[in-house]
Amino acid sequence: MRSSERFSAVPIDERGTTEEQWRSWLSTREWPQLEVKVDRLIVLAAHPDDEVLGAAGMMIAAAAAGIEVVPVCFSDGAGSHPGSPTLSPEELATRRQEELDVATKVLGISRSRWFGLPDGGLDREHDAMTSIINDICDEWPEETLAVLAVWEHDGHPDHEAVGRCAREVAADRGIELWQYPIWMWHWATPGESKIPWEDMRRHQLSNTALATKRIAITAFDTQINPLSPDAADRPVLLPHILDRLTRTHEYVFG
Ligand SMILES: [Zn+2]
Repeated sequence: MRSSERFSAVPIDERGTTEEQWRSWLSTREWPQLEVKVDRLIVLAAHPDDEVLGAAGMMIAAAAAGIEVVPVCFSDGAGSHPGSPTLSPEELATRRQEELDVATKVLGISRSRWFGLPDGGLDREHDAMTSIINDICDEWPEETLAVLAVWEHDGHPDHEAVGRCAREVAADRGIELWQYPIWMWHWATPGESKIPWEDMRRHQLSNTALATKRIAITAFDTQINPLSPDAADRPVLLPHILDRLTRTHEYVFG
């Protein structure tokens, strides 16, 4: 995630749609269950935390079902604290990679493949990201694959760039694609007509999986805690944002 962007019409500094609002609306509908039956699940993140926030439960369940989970992080995450007096962008990138390694270890999946592309610039990395996804898929020509990517209409340019590449590669190769939203839960409103709710699938987290996800999120120290009292060092993942991403269910578009 990244703090300094505007998402749709709702600035990130505002509260957005509350989890209470989402919970009461989501509970009024029947959501089809997500079913993933493949050999490998390739999980694409724009920033080092997207995959944990949006898909930790799905990754835990996949691994428990014997599906090899292959997490991939495209950007270096260096853009989360522009103007920080505490950490340079390079130091921040190093910290964020370490945090992601801890988080994936907590989830019991392999380390994320780290590509270090520019945070905030993934919309200029279309060809590089497409090649990366294709190269990863090429590693297992005999196996069934699915791609789980951050949503291509999530309202953040980096997220959308990753989602678009994922869709193109999945279509070219005829492999299954699911996309998880992150910022949609901030800027969208329940039932909003431009959201393809009919394509949404739901995954229920076990109590253990949810507890594990919450522990994994605590690894993202630079995102959930202030780096210093300076305004530029404010945390990105405020409690009301985490509320929306630590529910008993995760949702994907398919
Ligand atoms: Zn992100």
